Amino acid sequence: MMTEGKPDLLTQRIKQAAEVIAVSSPVIALTGAGISVESGIPDFRGKNGLWSKYDPARYATIDAFLSDPVEVWNMLREMDELVLAAKPNPAHTALGILEKKGFLQHIITQNIDNLHQAGGSLNVIEYHGNCSTLSCLSCNRRYSMEEKRHEYLPTCECGRILKPDIVFFGEGIPEEVLNLSFDIARKARVLLIIGTSAQVSPANTIPVVASKNNARVIEINKEKTWLTEQLTDIFLEGGAGDIVSGLLKEIIKTGA
Ligand SMILES: [Zn+2]
Repeated sequence: MMTEGKPDLLTQRIKQAAEVIAVSSPVIALTGAGISVESGIPDFRGKNGLWSKYDPARYATIDAFLSDPVEVWNMLREMDELVLAAKPNPAHTALGILEKKGFLQHIITQNIDNLHQAGGSLNVIEYHGNCSTLSCLSCNRRYSMEEKRHEYLPTCECGRILKPDIVFFGEGIPEEVLNLSFDIARKARVLLIIGTSAQVSPANTIPVVASKNNARVIEINKEKTWLTEQLTDIFLEGGAGDIVSGLLKEIIKTGA
């Protein structure tokens, strides 16, 4: 009986968050691994994540890729299998609908899985790139993963092993991506934080920048994070799929 009051509080908070979103613009979202877990991609850092099997120091740094791309492709093939099998979940599709209806202007994501785009979102800024394309570090030719997937070691026509367009550890985030995301964060009136504890730089600075510039911060996470006490205005505790689709329903009611 202890938890009986909890769903009511959550429902109340979802209504409250929906009211804020419906009357504010621009609204932006910062997303992380937690939004893709329900799509079948375990958090890389979590218990069943890719990094429990592949030491990121040996498989996910740019130095590792440059010195032994053949070894690193063992990890990349597994990453590709995970992403290929994943479908957008109700959180991704609800965000896509919110954007189409004009209630959400931008998504900044730390994920590389392309699921926001698959869920219908157009304005997606990808901090860590996207594994659906590959580039040659020698001649800069680009390929889609789809056309190269049948190759055990996807190789450029110039002969070099290709690298997915994801940001490896030790690589910088492209400057235009950084500038654009800070600009968006400064202007945001509402920041939705979904499925991320925002601990990794530079994603951890986005909530600070938005909040300093008076954005309301709505956090959707399964557990409290450092943000919850320090920056969050409305904390919606739970899985992204349920909560974001609940928000969508309320926003449509409120906005109509
Ligand atoms: Zn090449």
